[in-house]
Amino acid sequence: MTDVPRATLGVARLIWREAEALEIFSETPRVKTLRLRVPGWMGHRPGQHVDVRLTAEDGYQAERSYSVASAPRADLPAREIIELTVERLSDGEVSPYLTDELRPGDRIELRGPIGGYFTWEIGDGGPLALVAGGSGIVPLMAMLRHRAAAAPRVRAVLLHSSRRFEEIIYRKELESMTAEDPNLRVVHTLTREWPENWRGERRRIAFAMLQATLPAPAEKPLLYVCGPTEMVESVATALVDLGHDPARVKTERFGPSGE
Ligand SMILES: Cc1cc2nc3c(=O)[nH]c(=O)nc-3n(C[C@H](O)[C@H](O)[C@H](O)COP(=O)(O)OP(=O)(O)OC[C@H]3O[C@@H](n4cnc5c(N)ncnc54)[C@H](O)[C@@H]3O)c2cc1C
Repeated sequence: MTDVPRATLGVARLIWREAEALEIFSETPRVKTLRLRVPGWMGHRPGQHVDVRLTAEDGYQAERSYSVASAPRADLPAREIIELTVERLSDGEVSPYLTDELRPGDRIELRGPIGGYFTWEIGDGGPLALVAGGSGIVPLMAMLRHRAAAAPRVRAVLLHSSRRFEEIIYRKELESMTAEDPNLRVVHTLTREWPENWRGERRRIAFAMLQATLPAPAEKPLLYVCGPTEMVESVATALVDLGHDPARVKTERFGPSGE
């Protein structure tokens, strides 16, 4: 986050801004990343989200929240460029527009950054224990990108559940992050289908997987859980049952179960 007085930021984040789509690229068959230029963007904390508002020709408006996927950048012009990663829901109102219709040069309205609770910055320390279901990885990726740029010594583990191998969001980037970083561990689990030679986990995230993968409660990790509502609730309950301090377990629910 840049050095701007909090009162100024409070007003700035309520303002609807016109963001220009610079680039749109596929992450998986159903997920795209939108790189946007947001004039006047003051910066964000990893984990925060924006509200996106679409207006139809007849004036009908729809608003949805999307986490910022990119790490914060302090200096202009990089500071005004942010990325959102959106999963297409076939019966959805907003996500199919963002993933299928939006083109470079188009403009959408957004406001933010929003949310002060589900955030992590270097000063918060570690170890970091991140648990994601599907597109719930987006705000956690902002944390990992920020960590890679600013504090790679903070120990971090990401446990990520996806339905299929080809649906693992940011798979290649996570592979290169772990290859270069002895303090980062990434564990994938696939819940529906897996390649023949898949050696990873093959079930939903539950008690035993959390116990085997994440730092023990005695290490006092900072835990962040994000994904479909049902998954977040069952993981948060399991973490507390494992003995983690509820005050260190932060959750963000993206909506109904993706299963
Ligand atoms: C704080 C926050 C951050 C979010 N960040 C992201 C993000 O980074 N990337 C992202 O792709 N989404 C994110 N979401 C979810 C997003 O806001 C929308 O809910 C999602 O894109 C669906 O919107 P839609 O208009 O396409 O579908 P809608 O028209 O709202 O819903 C269509 C159908 O899908 C169901 N549905 C709604 N949301 C979900 C969901 N998340 N999973 C499965 N089914 C659902 C509805 O019950 C309905 O049946 C976030 C949500 C919150 C609250």
